[in-house]
Amino acid sequence: MNNFVFDPPRIHSLPVSGSDARFPVARVFCLGRNYYWGDTLNAVREVPAFFMKPATSVIDAVGELDFPTQTEQFCHEIELVVAVGKDGFEISEAQALDHVWGYAAGLDLTRRDLQMAAKAVGNPWEPAKAFDGSAPITPIKPATADGHPTQGAIWLRVNGVERQRSDLDSQIWSVSEIISQLSHSVGLRAGDLIMTGTPPGVAALQTGDVINAGITGIGELEMRVGSRR
Ligand code: MN
Repeated sequence: MNNFVFDPPRIHSLPVSGSDARFPVARVFCLGRNYYWGDTLNAVREVPAFFMKPATSVIDAVGELDFPTQTEQFCHEIELVVAVGKDGFEISEAQALDHVWGYAAGLDLTRRDLQMAAKAVGNPWEPAKAFDGSAPITPIKPATADGHPTQGAIWLRVNGVERQRSDLDSQIWSVSEIISQLSHSVGLRAGDLIMTGTPPGVAALQTGDVINAGITGIGELEMRVGSRR
């Protein structure tokens, strides 16, 4: 028995690869630009740009993707996802990987038109980034299995045509740097996920499109884009 006024919200979770265990999701942090895109070749490293999605946006990266409302530019972004397994605040770069439980591949799905509209007037990005189902993620691969990746192909195809391809070694901010920087802003908690940015080639999806994407040695996904409501 408890005295909650209704049943507490359920815990969102992701499967663990090669296991029946589930990884309980606390929060989802996302990093903005973390690969050089064509229009930012001369960009210098600035303070990393973090935003968030709610844990409720996380879904298993299988089956059909709901086409979100309020957008004409529903865009894919394939990203390395870091799964935090240990609490920490003001974590040093040297200690950062001790806080990583595992890794996955995920899509930071984006209503790009809403993001552009928000950027134009300085509004927050949540309407563009935090909608239901906006974070499909593959099963989490424990770091105890293969350690911490510093390289590996990251790619995304739509209907068999490649749209995104890069390598984890092209990330501007390393996983250790990301964890350290973020943990100086907020205390990280076991269960937090960090989506670490996408390579160039992001583009819009249409109903019926089949997405194949992944990161070598981490995980792969296939999803079909569903109809508008
Ligand atoms: Mn992204």
